[in-house]
Amino acid sequence: MARNIGADGRTVYRAVITKTYADGRTYTAHEGPYTEPGPARARVSFWRNRMAAYGDGRSATGHIEEAHTVWAPVGEQPPMDQAARAAGIREAADAIDNDDYCGCGGCDTCILRAHAADLRAHADRVHSAAEEATP
Ligand SMILES: [Zn+2]
Repeated sequence: MARNIGADGRTVYRAVITKTYADGRTYTAHEGPYTEPGPARARVSFWRNRMAAYGDGRSATGHIEEAHTVWAPVGEQPPMDQAARAAGIREAADAIDNDDYCGCGGCDTCILRAHAADLRAHADRVHSAAEEATP
């Protein structure tokens, strides 16, 4: 974990390990985060081998997961990812939009189209569509 994970959006990895005991009880543990998937995978292997080594019916299975970090000072809410926020606003725009090209500007469908356009403009101010195209 010595490597830099300070940047927002940086991917981190964890191992999700389900241990089954001789009496059939199961317990799920999480180990990490790690800056690379390899160490998380190694923890799954470690627990699979360790539980099998008892030879009394214990076993372990697992997989690895990834998350993208958003940092905030302790005690403060992390800022919502701006790309995700813009995507939500665009979804709302799509939900109220319609394909009626009436053009009178005053009927219900025209007003909804105008609101959808306003929402898309707002989404672009939050996080521009051009930025979104770049991963
Ligand atoms: Zn109209």
